[in-house]
Amino acid sequence: MPYHQNLIAGEWVGGNATENRNPSDTNDVVGLYAQGTPDDMRAAISAAKAAFPAWSRSGILERHAILRKTSDEILSRKEELGTLLAREEGKTLPEAIGETIRAAQIFDFFAGECLRLAGESLPSVRPGIGVEITREPIGPIGLITPWNFPIAIPAWKIAPALCYGNTVVLKPAELVPGCAWALADILHRAGLPKGVFNLVMGKGSVIGQVMLDSPDLAGISFTGSVGTGKRVALASIEHGRKYQLEMGGKNPFVILDDADLSIAVEASLNSCFFSTGQRCTASSRLIVTEGIHDRFVAALIERLKTVTVDNALKAGTHIGPVVDERQLMQDIDYIDIGRSEGANLAFGGERLNRETPGFYLQPALFTEATNQMRISREEVFGPVASLIRVKDYEEALSIANDTPFGLSSGIATTSLKHATHFRRNAEAGMVMVNLPTAGVDFHVPFGGRKGSSFGSREQGRYAAEFFTTVKTAYTLA
Ligand code: ADP
Repeated sequence: MPYHQNLIAGEWVGGNATENRNPSDTNDVVGLYAQGTPDDMRAAISAAKAAFPAWSRSGILERHAILRKTSDEILSRKEELGTLLAREEGKTLPEAIGETIRAAQIFDFFAGECLRLAGESLPSVRPGIGVEITREPIGPIGLITPWNFPIAIPAWKIAPALCYGNTVVLKPAELVPGCAWALADILHRAGLPKGVFNLVMGKGSVIGQVMLDSPDLAGISFTGSVGTGKRVALASIEHGRKYQLEMGGKNPFVILDDADLSIAVEASLNSCFFSTGQRCTASSRLIVTEGIHDRFVAALIERLKTVTVDNALKAGTHIGPVVDERQLMQDIDYIDIGRSEGANLAFGGERLNRETPGFYLQPALFTEATNQMRISREEVFGPVASLIRVKDYEEALSIANDTPFGLSSGIATTSLKHATHFRRNAEAGMVMVNLPTAGVDFHVPFGGRKGSSFGSREQGRYAAEFFTTVKTAYTLA
């Protein structure tokens, strides 16, 4: 069984392996991965700190070449890396290959950004003085990533961090060390100087916490749960460092009477259930106006009956397993809560057995839900959706916005008036018209409002906001 170590200061180090198991087939061990210790994390942070001065002054062609090489290798190995991703996380093979391609595109995008670093030059209000505004890297940065996008989320934090001249320590989620290790291996071989990128795998509560408590990190970019996000924020305030948080969602998808029924059904199916509902942009509240309600429910249930839940690697699977036993129990708990709150379980919700032992769950659709129920307010993070019946557009908008979260918000309508009004008034970082709430581009900003996010946006050129700091220089001419 291959054994995968941590990458610290350009060396592969560490013992204490743990097994990475496949949620589609718990007999399948994906590999053995090192469990980092607090000392490993401290060594990785020191290495990133030591490597920063030289890397921050490195040439843009060197950075460009490394990011390009990384992109090219990911793309050329997309089937193999996609298979690894599907095996360790459980999304379907086409979804996993798609995510892998996206990771390659992100590295390619930021390879290009290295060559487009620019500032501004302005005259001062005082004659004879010039003002130059430039962006500089912030320092060694800690990246903490979740299990649901094992290659894309590390990519969209690592690529801009390196592009703008920062050094990195990555702490991937415990459940998915495989893709993070593969990325570390590719970056290492692409020629990064030692210490510029470090990987420490292991427990969030142990080595993640060491990262939070370190005085030597200039920033932490985090994606994960609200609870851990708050810890990142508090520790970062304590240490006076920059931080960026992407956390939960309870994303609404509104369906109006005038919606194209098939667009509404396909977008709902995708939003709520694809990737096993394990996307922070997944929709979990379908808000449907009276005139289309019954037709929509009937059509969505018919469509759900055609969906295959099975092993992520099997051809024809539409929805893979839940990521692990703990998450499956959480999903099932919420299904029980929905029932006891009086919502009507109109489809699914039962655990399924397949040829291989795994965490299979039939997607669950609750109808007659209200927005006050726990299943409509708390993030389940599984294939569980509550459908709320409303009178009209105004009520739909008000319920869509009545949530502590604000990541993504969608509407299905053929009305220009309502689409425009919704785009302007949805309290979310991303708004989708006649499109699923999940599924976003890599070259434009990603992020939310309210309890979903804190700090500046990720991805595209907006990533510079977090990964750089602005300098304003005055020179007497
Ligand atoms: P989830 O419930 O989706 O696993 P978490 O917020 O627990 O969300 O996990 C997201 C990331 O945060 C993971 O990489 C995890 O290891 C890490 N993490 C968990 N607890 C801590 C902590 N106390 N300090 C730092 N990182 C943590």
